[in-house]
Amino acid sequence: MTPNSQTIRFFRRHIPAFACEPGCHDCCGPVTASSEEMARLPEKSDAAHEAALAGLSCPHLGDTGCQVYAERPLICRLFGTTPRLACPNGKRPETLIDPRIEQRIYQYFKATRHVLV
Ligand code: SF4
Ligand code: SF4
Repeated sequence: MTPNSQTIRFFRRHIPAFACEPGCHDCCGPVTASSEEMARLPEKSDAAHEAALAGLSCPHLGDTGCQVYAERPLICRLFGTTPRLACPNGKRPETLIDPRIEQRIYQYFKATRHVLV
């Protein structure tokens, strides 16, 4: 396991999970991810990327929601777990993310090249 994948695993473990509004994908849109995370996602065609971007959507959003849920990027997992990325539908985990972990995730975002998913 590379240091980068250990970091991602650590962050994933420390981002609290919660139940979303069934069928909701209001917080999905153009998101970015590190190359480590991108390598875990299926490749999409240029046309699929362009169509998603034109609709301010994500190429992995399907009719039944996120098609890559188990491997969705950190930013998708963070949504709803911090006041900075509050869910517009009022969903949240009982305990929000530890601010120290959140800070470390933002530092990781800054220090690691991210590309559009
Ligand atoms: S976090 Fe909120 S906006 Fe995003 S999918 Fe869940 S319920 Fe919907
Ligand atoms: S990867 Fe999944 S959760 Fe993240 S924006 Fe795309 S469809 Fe939504």
